[in-house]
Amino acid sequence: MTRDGTLGVAVIGTGRMGSDHVRRIDEVISDARVAAVVDIDGERAKAAARRVDGCAAYTDAAAAMADDGVDAVLIASPGPAHEAALLEAFARDLPVLCEKPLTPDAASALRVVRAEARLGHRRAQVGFMRRYDARFRQLKAVLDAGVLGRPLMLHCVHRNVATGPGFTSTMTISDSVVHEIDATRWLLGQEIIAVTVLRPTPSAVAPEGLSDPQLVLFETAGGAVVDVEIFVNCGFGYQVRCEAVGEHGTARAGDDDGLYVNAAGRWGGEIPQDYVVRFADAYDREVQAWVDATRRGEVTGPSAWDGYAAAAVCEAGVCAQATGERTTVTLAPRPALYGG
Ligand code: NAD
Repeated sequence: MTRDGTLGVAVIGTGRMGSDHVRRIDEVISDARVAAVVDIDGERAKAAARRVDGCAAYTDAAAAMADDGVDAVLIASPGPAHEAALLEAFARDLPVLCEKPLTPDAASALRVVRAEARLGHRRAQVGFMRRYDARFRQLKAVLDAGVLGRPLMLHCVHRNVATGPGFTSTMTISDSVVHEIDATRWLLGQEIIAVTVLRPTPSAVAPEGLSDPQLVLFETAGGAVVDVEIFVNCGFGYQVRCEAVGEHGTARAGDDDGLYVNAAGRWGGEIPQDYVVRFADAYDREVQAWVDATRRGEVTGPSAWDGYAAAAVCEAGVCAQATGERTTVTLAPRPALYGG
């Protein structure tokens, strides 16, 4: 810890998520400060740095990590840039919170896992923020307490208003369904062993060439089945839901966000338009938990192994999507560092 005992964080990537994390660390999070920001777009980095007292701007992640004021790293650059930043942080033994995905494919994710295992201690947490959402945590507690009995199925819904340019069908798995992959592994405490993807005739408002919506099915090692409706151009809002069905009951998270209003002869509320709004509390809790654990010298939360396992399931999912076949998931042996 440097200066006044707070954790000096370098935020790498100052786009949508990175600038939100800069604001969060600056305004919401206790015991941390944004010591540096990094963006390959130098003007964007400077603009982000100007919003925070004493924050340095860099275009190179390694230079920021060498800054005396930097104690830890938050990676919010695009997925393909994560591996290099993670390996640089490991080389300097710096704690890292890395936005999902850990890396875009299983082979690179496994390289990260092995690099951390060589360090001999955990340094990375992956930004699977569902684990910090209040309702998802309640759902996990209900499942763990055995209230529902043995879990049989999860029914999941993941809808976005619209996709930006360049969003492809494979990204529906690797960028969107990756959250349900982690939520499934976490909620059920089981690995996903096979993936099947069903593709209805695409919505007429989906961009040309994009399969949207899709139904993604997971089978888990414990015999549960999980269905995920992924619909990334639903047009009306951002919705994430998960219903667990067990031998003795069901429980559902994600129905009750926001205020319920009765007025002008109607009842209802607002649907958030994006994840920054829907999961604001979860991101706050996630980053505060990371800062607190880091200051204690610990690493908690989703591990690099969780990031790798999710990447391996994504790879099977992309294959299942292309072939229409049920595709099994192959995982490398789990290193001892992650309980292997
Ligand atoms: P974005 O495109 O808005 O921003 C990315 C920024 O990184 C840009 O400013 C770009 O110039 C910069 N950049 C690119 N390569 C870089 C490099 N090598 N070094 C430093 N900066 C670099 O993207 P985004 O939507 O903010 O996504 C960033 C990350 O956050 C991705 O990994 C994405 O999957 C993740 N994300 C997570 C969630 C979530 O709910 N947890 C939601 C959205 C995005």
